[in-house]
Amino acid sequence: MTDTTTALPPTRLPQERRLVTDLPGPASQQLAERRAAAVTAAVGSTMPVYAADADGGVVVDVDGNSLIDLGSGIAVTSVGNANPAVVEAVREAVGHFTHTCFMITPYSGYVEVCERLNALTPGDFAKKSALFNSGAEAVENAVKVARRATGRSAIVVLDHAYHGRTNLTMALTAKNMPYKAGFGPFAPDVYRVPGSYPFRDPEGMTGAQAAARAIRQIEVQVGAGEVAGVLVEPIQGEGGFVDPAPGFLPALAQWCRDNGALFIADEVQTGFCRTGDWFASHHEGVEPDLVVTAKGMAGGLPLAGVTGRAELMDAVHKGGLGGTYGGNPVACAASLAAMDVMASADLAGAAKRIEEAVVPRLRALQDKSDRIGDVRGRGAMLALELVKPGTSEPDSAAAAAIAAACHAQGVIVLTAGSFSNVVRLLPPLVIPADLLDEGLGVLEDAILGYAG
Ligand SMILES: *Cc1c(COP(=O)(O)O)cnc(C)c1O
Repeated sequence: MTDTTTALPPTRLPQERRLVTDLPGPASQQLAERRAAAVTAAVGSTMPVYAADADGGVVVDVDGNSLIDLGSGIAVTSVGNANPAVVEAVREAVGHFTHTCFMITPYSGYVEVCERLNALTPGDFAKKSALFNSGAEAVENAVKVARRATGRSAIVVLDHAYHGRTNLTMALTAKNMPYKAGFGPFAPDVYRVPGSYPFRDPEGMTGAQAAARAIRQIEVQVGAGEVAGVLVEPIQGEGGFVDPAPGFLPALAQWCRDNGALFIADEVQTGFCRTGDWFASHHEGVEPDLVVTAKGMAGGLPLAGVTGRAELMDAVHKGGLGGTYGGNPVACAASLAAMDVMASADLAGAAKRIEEAVVPRLRALQDKSDRIGDVRGRGAMLALELVKPGTSEPDSAAAAAIAAACHAQGVIVLTAGSFSNVVRLLPPLVIPADLLDEGLGVLEDAILGYAG
C-alpha cells in the first residue's frame, strides 16, 4: 500500500487498534447510564464508547481502547484529530481573546480566512466571503444571498440531498427519517428534482441526460424565471456518497448561467481536500456562483463559510448577514492552521493515494460478495452500497450489521444513504497507511462474515 503520510509530524498517541475491553467498556457503560438520565434520547451516537483522547487516525476511549477512525467525526478532522499545528494555533489564539464579535470589533483571522476561501474556491473571478458556525447556518445564508441577489425566491434541490437540520435546511434535505419526521411545516419555495445516481438511474443514462431530466422538471414545475438558485452537493454526502455521472454538474451549472439562477455548491462534506482536490467542483471545472463550506475547514473547531462572486455577496444590504459567534477568532486561527497543513502536507494528494489504496480492495471485495451493489466515491470519500444478494434492492439491515461488526472490532465506520444501505469511509487524510489497511481488513471480514 502506498504511504499516505509523507511530510507529516509525528503523532502523540500510538497509531494502533488496541482493544483492552469488550466495547463498550465499563467506564463507557457508566457514562451511558448518566447520559440516559441527562441527555435527550433524540440525539443519537454511532458508537456507545466515550472518547477520552484522539490523535491522527485513532480515537482512544475512556477505557483505554484505541479505535481506528474511518469517519473523522463526519469528514471534519481531515488534518488528523488534535493536529499539533491546529492545537498550537488554538492555544495561541485563545490566550489572547476568545470573542469580541466580528460585528462589534473585527479581527484579522476572520479576514484572512475569507481571503483564503476566496483564493481556494473554484473560479478565477473576484470573490467575497462571510463566516458562520455550522454547515446548516452557512447553507441558510447562501440561500439568503441567492434570493437577495437575484430578487427571486425559488430554491431547487435534488433527490437524496442533505443540507442540514434547521428549518430551512430541513426543507432542503430529502430524507424524512430521522431528519424531518414530525418537524414540519417546512420553509416554502423549495423544489426537489431528480439528480444523477448512476447505480439507480436507467442503465446507460449519461450525466447530460440526467441534467436534462432535472432541467425539464424545473422548467415545467418551477419556471426558469422563478429560480434564485440550484443547490447541489458535488458528491452527495448523507444521501449515500452519490457521485453524479460526468457532465451532470456542468450541464446544470450552464443552465443556471443561461437562466439567471445561481449555481450553489454545498461543499460542506466534499471540501478541503476530501475528494483529492481543494473542492469537488474543481473536478469537472465547475465554477459555482456560491460555495458553502464547513466540516473539514477548521481542524475540528466549528466554523463555516459562504464564498461567492463579489457582486452577489455585496448585493445584500449592510448588516443583512452575521451572527454573534460567526467566524469566532479561535476557530479562525484553527482554520488557518488546518489550511496550512492541507497545503504543506499535500492532503489533496493524500486523499488521492487513499482512493488508490482503498478502491481496488473494495472492488476485489465486490467480486467476492454479491451483497455489494456499487463501489463509489472519490479521494477519501468512498462508499459501498449494500443490496440484497444479486439484486439492486437496498439492504439496510446488512449495512447496519456490517457497521456494527466493524465497531465491535474497534473500527469506526459510518453508514449513509436515503435507504440507509451505504457504508461510507471518511478517514482522516493523514491516516497511516498500515492503520487504514488494518481497518479495511476488518471491514472485509465484516462483509464476508455477514450471513444476513
Ligand atoms: C453536514 C452537512 C451539512 C450541515 O452541516 P452542520 O455543520 O451539521 O450544520 C450541510 N451540507 C452537507 C453536504 C453536509 O454534509
